[in-house]
Amino acid sequence: MSTSLQSFSTLKGAYIPTTFPISTAAEVEQVLQDAAAASIPFGKKTFIERAEFLEAIADEIMELGDALLEKTLEETALPLARLTGERGRTCTQLKLYANLLRNGSWCDAVIDTAMPERQPLPRADLRRILQPIGPVLVFGASNFPYAYSTAGGDTASALAAGCPVIVKAHESHLGTSELVAKAVLRAAEKTGMPKGVFASLVGTGPILGQQLAADERIQAIGFTGSYKAGMALYTTATQKRKTPIPVYAEMSSINPVILLPELLAQKTAFIAAALAGSICLGVGQFCTSPGLIFALDDEATQSFAAELATALAAVLPATMLNPQICNTYYANKKQLVNTKNVKILFEGSELSEVFQATPALLQTTALHFMANPSLQKEIFGPCSLLVVCKNQQELYAAIATMEGQLTGSVYGSTEELIQHQQLVDTLQQKVGRLIFNNVPTGVEVCNAIVHGGPFPATTDARTTSVGPEAIRRFARPVCYQDCPEALLPLYLRNSNKAGILRLVNGILTIEAVA
Ligand code: NAP
Repeated sequence: MSTSLQSFSTLKGAYIPTTFPISTAAEVEQVLQDAAAASIPFGKKTFIERAEFLEAIADEIMELGDALLEKTLEETALPLARLTGERGRTCTQLKLYANLLRNGSWCDAVIDTAMPERQPLPRADLRRILQPIGPVLVFGASNFPYAYSTAGGDTASALAAGCPVIVKAHESHLGTSELVAKAVLRAAEKTGMPKGVFASLVGTGPILGQQLAADERIQAIGFTGSYKAGMALYTTATQKRKTPIPVYAEMSSINPVILLPELLAQKTAFIAAALAGSICLGVGQFCTSPGLIFALDDEATQSFAAELATALAAVLPATMLNPQICNTYYANKKQLVNTKNVKILFEGSELSEVFQATPALLQTTALHFMANPSLQKEIFGPCSLLVVCKNQQELYAAIATMEGQLTGSVYGSTEELIQHQQLVDTLQQKVGRLIFNNVPTGVEVCNAIVHGGPFPATTDARTTSVGPEAIRRFARPVCYQDCPEALLPLYLRNSNKAGILRLVNGILTIEAVA
């Protein structure tokens, strides 16, 4: 059995010479022990101390400079401009959680003071706050080597919540992962964080990933990747352990785009160009890539289909992240092409030998879409399926059969959108983010964002993996009853020295408790 892993460069068509030893059983055990031991001291660090740690991680990542970008370019084939942007986004995420901690109010501090005189029974002093859940296992994503990987959103939000993090490095970008992991460890040391607050391990998903997920010391899992791996982890975490734990897996989404007829007729070329750009963005290797387009059977849709096919035909082939993703793209596309009642509007040549993808646009009818659930399978790459609906009823029925998605887009004039309120309501039930007159790619890192959605887009529709709300995934409410002031968490003490917003006896206030 192999004792080391290597990343493959699809740009060079060869393995990168650097080898990464698979973490030994002793190393894995030590990391788990350290993470468990770090839980209490790290959880007790003040919000400001944790904020300083996150800010230091951002600084250390930036300190890596071009060496990091060049390593990731070699490992992922993602262009430098994209990587530079993603690195910035990753640091913005870290700082977003730092700001959340500095503000402090995220922890939902609630105080109901004692009512000793209450009749017929006195009320105890009850104080509630969100506390860290414990060590979190994070699986980095191949398609976001920074923003959803070693120091990405899952790691940043778990650390912000006060949870030690163990990362299972993605085989696709082991060198990137190592550089970023070292940056996190340097930041931890500089800011005085306890040993065990962070570690990154090397190994395969089915072996190391499963072992970690099954370990009782792990208290939650953050994952982005395939449905198959996500569900394998979900099964382990919820059914094969003595103690089931939450799994926040973002897995499979095809992001339906509905084109209402009036606006489509008015802006056919504009919408076709926007969708071509979105389908091919990042070689279609985005969880928000538009894999399904719905439109009515009319002249505007025919013109749109022709325009979109022409736009896709003009897109140059582009290198994919790794050979497996490339092969899976062509295999899944072939399966779709060979599906009964699916016709090709445009299909580029197969270039899997050089790990490049060419776009494809396929078409089916709403009746066939509804009859064949396999048409809802994610095809990771620049491929989209146009579903032509005979009439409004068919369109509504097709949307009602959709599985859960990260996003759903509707293009329509304001009048049309109001007229189709019922359709919008149905789509809302299926998605985490409802988009009007725009493409699904592009996830803003901000307070209001939701990057999540009903199964199978994720394993928990109540949360988001991007934005401040993501911190709640790794915290749980704890209530302190008649707890002596000195033992209370800092943020529940009478004085409110941190000046955070608290709900005291039903009133939101920053005042101290009298
Ligand atoms: P993946 O195969 O799901 O791998 C993600 C991580 O999970 C890797 O660290 C992998 O380890 C691990 N893993 C794999 N099988 C596992 C198992 N049985 N138990 C525990 N962990 C396991 O995803 P990927 O490599 O990033 O891409 C493959 C496919 O995933 C794509 O073709 C695409 O369909 C999908 N994908 C979807 C999204 C999305 O956001 N929707 C994003 C990325 C990828 P190894 O390194 O050993 O494989």
